[in-house]
Amino acid sequence: MAGSPDFDLYRPSEEHDMLRDAVRSLAEAKIAPYAAAVDEEARFPQEALDALVANDLQAIHVPEAYGGAGADALATVIVIEEVARACASSSLIPAVNKLGSLPVILSGSEDLKKKYMTPLAKGEGMFSYCLSEPDAGSDAAGMKTKAVRDGDYWVLNGVKRWITNAGVSEYYTVMAVTDPTKRSKGISAFVVEKSDEGVSFGAPEKKLGIKGSPTREVYLDNVRIPADRMIGEEGTGFATAMKTLDHTRITIAAQALGIAQGALDYAKGYVQERKQFGKPIGDFQGVQFMLADMAMKLEAARQLTYAAAAKSERLDADLTFFGAAAKCYASDAAMEITTDAVQLLGGYGYTRDYPVERMMRDAKITQIYEGTNQVQRIVMARNLP
Ligand SMILES: Cc1cc2nc3c(=O)[nH]c(=O)nc-3n(C[C@H](O)[C@H](O)[C@H](O)COP(=O)(O)OP(=O)(O)OC[C@H]3O[C@@H](n4cnc5c(N)ncnc54)[C@H](O)[C@@H]3O)c2cc1C
Repeated sequence: MAGSPDFDLYRPSEEHDMLRDAVRSLAEAKIAPYAAAVDEEARFPQEALDALVANDLQAIHVPEAYGGAGADALATVIVIEEVARACASSSLIPAVNKLGSLPVILSGSEDLKKKYMTPLAKGEGMFSYCLSEPDAGSDAAGMKTKAVRDGDYWVLNGVKRWITNAGVSEYYTVMAVTDPTKRSKGISAFVVEKSDEGVSFGAPEKKLGIKGSPTREVYLDNVRIPADRMIGEEGTGFATAMKTLDHTRITIAAQALGIAQGALDYAKGYVQERKQFGKPIGDFQGVQFMLADMAMKLEAARQLTYAAAAKSERLDADLTFFGAAAKCYASDAAMEITTDAVQLLGGYGYTRDYPVERMMRDAKITQIYEGTNQVQRIVMARNLP
């Protein structure tokens, strides 16, 4: 198998390695120093956004045709992974910029792509993704938000819940029902702008983790938008939303990898410093075995995620299975690894004086959003390789 083109694509190239080094240095210098405060104060990581924009890393997936870097799926994974290693909340900037904008890239008209991908690539406006609603989570097709045609306009009404970066983003991909008789085939996708009349936001949710990433409701109250803001054909919005998730679940896997790597790196250093029974606790085989298991799980998750990224880039037929598998496996691994990192720090690990408890709280969300891990198993079971 070694040497076949498929196999080579699973491995990061020299360019990918250089990108990782650059993002790691940036994240350590400009993002990590604020991670604890961003969590403690539950505030948006503006320093991270500024640093990412200054280095053109806020949305590197945007194609070159619209002024972006045109980075491949693996490069995007590496950026998210390295930012998440320092601060999970900040990693939602590149991750959700991809999630929000991919529907336009996959299904939007050329005009729509030019209009919205260009400011995204320049760092002039972020993108959010509005699928979930108060009564439509795992069963997203049960949404109630409606769009009604009125001449050359569509008028949107409804409530979207749990919208990451809501209020900060300029642009919102909104899924809404255009034909209630057709369930998922009666859902269409639209670009809504923050400045459109009738758009407002709920109070930030008070969360267990990723506290620096604002999660708010988006209210659409008679929002009247030009008909050309529809993404793709009428009735294709749900299919576009699901196709998007096939690609972006890999970015949640990347976030999980980064959080877990941050926790493992911290624990590895700590066990060499902390002494009990007259020697570093890292000298005890019981502790070494825990670190070995953590590293093993992390590397298995990384290989699955990179394989899925290669499939995303090539649009392989088994992408749906791999996207779900990578997200599910990496997020479960991150939860185990961060929990073990807290264990390795003992009582100190349980306090906010050390970063691993934040990492453990942050890891939990990766098992829930972009479809819970139960939903990932449903997706995998329906798409067995
Ligand atoms: C911090 C945060 C950020 C988010 N960001 C976004 C965003 O930017 N955009 C967006 O659109 N959404 C976002 N979400 C929403 C997220 O995707 C949903 O919360 C998630 O899909 C689950 O939906 P729910 O919360 O309604 O849970 P429910 O669907 O009510 O699920 C509750 C439990 O039931 C289980 N369950 C449900 N159905 C089944 C089944 N058929 N079989 C087995 N188990 C099942 C679930 O796995 C879960 O354990 C975000 C959520 C959070 C918490």
